[in-house]
Amino acid sequence: MTKTIKHHLTDDLLMGYSAGTLPEAFNLVVATHISMCDECRARLASFDAVGGELVAKSETVEMAENSLTAVMEKIKASAGISEDRPKCVRAPNAVFPTPLQEYVAGDLDSVKWRRVGGGVSQAILKTSSDATVRLLRIPAGTAVPDHGHRGTELTLVLQGAFVDETDRFGAGDIEVAGEELHHTPVAEAGMDCICLSATDAPLRFNGLLPRIAQRFVRI
Ligand code: ZN
Ligand code: ZN
Repeated sequence: MTKTIKHHLTDDLLMGYSAGTLPEAFNLVVATHISMCDECRARLASFDAVGGELVAKSETVEMAENSLTAVMEKIKASAGISEDRPKCVRAPNAVFPTPLQEYVAGDLDSVKWRRVGGGVSQAILKTSSDATVRLLRIPAGTAVPDHGHRGTELTLVLQGAFVDETDRFGAGDIEVAGEELHHTPVAEAGMDCICLSATDAPLRFNGLLPRIAQRFVRI
């Protein structure tokens, strides 16, 4: 799995996850990607180590000006050593990695889908209200209405693939979309695309119909 992943988490997200400052909805997407991706798991281990060093130092003496640089150097040298973060242990036939299975209390077949229009279905997962996370099922060849973002949107592909104005995203890939991105994701032909998607603000749809529907589906 990990060899085919092309799109990864940003440093900001890994740092926020390590420090425990992300909304629960984002934590779930980050944890799920990490469980699928050796590269991000190794980078996270570095941030965890930096955080640990900073806490240890601040408890003793005030930090010397160059100590952060020194810590960073040490971290680079030890990158990837800690392995206490979730690793993918899903069964061969399962679609959901472990962190997601725990939220859904099962795999793909236990999801209660609701239609949101245009053939697309969603299932909103229960998290704290500062951000929203949902599973999306986009039928093969179908487009999600074009939209912009008021905040950050994380989209992790679990099955199939989608293509938008920026690139192709296959299983394990994560797209981090900010306010500057406007896109129309289209599921690739051949297989329904299943994604885990978190947003911390409502999307900005261009078309009138999606805008009306938006009030009912909380997207
Ligand atoms: Zn990654
Ligand atoms: Zn988007």
